[in-house]
Amino acid sequence: MIVTRDLTKRYGRLTAVDGVHLDVREGDRYGLLGPNGSGKTTLVRMLLGLVFATRGEIEVLGRPVPRRVGEVLPQIGAMVEGPGAYPHLSGRANLRLFDAAGPGGSRRDRRRRVDEVLERVGLAGVDRRPVRAYSLGMRQRLGLASALLRRPRLLVLDEPTNGLDPRGIREVRDLLTELNANGTTVLLSSHLLAEIDAFCTRVGVMDRGRLVLQEDLATLRRPTGRVVVGSPEPERVVALLDGRVEGRDGHTLTVRHADPAALNAELVAAGIPVTEFAPERRSLEQVVLDMTTTSADRVEAA
Ligand code: ATP
Repeated sequence: MIVTRDLTKRYGRLTAVDGVHLDVREGDRYGLLGPNGSGKTTLVRMLLGLVFATRGEIEVLGRPVPRRVGEVLPQIGAMVEGPGAYPHLSGRANLRLFDAAGPGGSRRDRRRRVDEVLERVGLAGVDRRPVRAYSLGMRQRLGLASALLRRPRLLVLDEPTNGLDPRGIREVRDLLTELNANGTTVLLSSHLLAEIDAFCTRVGVMDRGRLVLQEDLATLRRPTGRVVVGSPEPERVVALLDGRVEGRDGHTLTVRHADPAALNAELVAAGIPVTEFAPERRSLEQVVLDMTTTSADRVEAA
C-alpha cells in the first residue's frame, strides 16, 4: 500500500526525516509513533505529495509519488495537521463543497453521502452551526468525515484523536476499526503509546527523523521465554527452581523457563500455592523505551 525507500527530508541543516523505509501493507492498522518533532507529520505530508522529499522514493497504491499522486489521491482519505474548513460555513456545507470535487453522482446521491458521513462521525445533529463555533473535537470529527467521503481504500490520519475526550477517542477508534474490517487500510500517527497499543496491528517508531522500529504488534508481544509466577510462599519457589528465578518483586517472581506447562506441573507437584501464572510478554512501552534514546521520555505512556 505504501512503500518508501531511503526517504529523507532536510530543512536547511535539520534532517526532519532521515532514510526511512516505510512498509504499510494492505489491511494494516499501522501506527506511526514518536515524540513531538520526530518527523511523523513531515513523513505523512511527503506520502501525500504535500512536501517534496530531499532524497528517496515513495510508492503509494502502486504509483510513484509525487509524480503520479493525482491518480492515487482520489482513493485516499486524509487528515493532516488538523482539518481544514471554511469557518463561516456549517460542517455540512463544507462537506458538500469538498464532495463537489469528488466522484460526482446525482444531487441526491451526493446529499445522502454527506448525511451518511455526518452521522458516522456523530455530527448529524450539529450541522447548522458554523465551523468557527465548533470545539476542537468537533473539528476533528469533521476532518474525519471529509476523509471518509470518498470511501477510501487508504486512510492517512495525522493525530486523529487530538483534542477529543476519552469518549470521542473511543468512538473514533471504533469507527476506524469498523472501516478497517471492511477493507480500508489505516495509517495514523500519534505520540500516544496507549492509542497505538489499543488500535494498531503494526507499528513504526520514529526517533529524531529515523524509523527505528517497524514490526507487527503480535511479533513484538511474543512471549519472552520467561514466566511470571505469583505465590504467597516465594522462598519455596526460589528453593525449588534454584537458579532459574531471574527477578523478584515481593510475591511475584520472574522465572526463566522454555515450557510454561512443565513449570506449572513442577510447582503443583511440589505443593506450592500459586496465585498468578502467565508467560511474560513485552509491552509496547518496553519495546519503545528500549528502541528510542533520549527523546523516548517524551513518548507519553498513557
Ligand atoms: P509533532 O507531533 O509535533 O507534529 P512530528 O513528529 O510530526 O511532531 P514534524 O512536524 O514532522 O514532527 O517535524 C520534524 C522536525 O522538522 C521538527 O524539528 C520541525 O521543527 C522541523 N520542521 C517541520 N516542518 C518544517 C518546515 N517547514 N521548515 C523547517 N523545519 C520544519
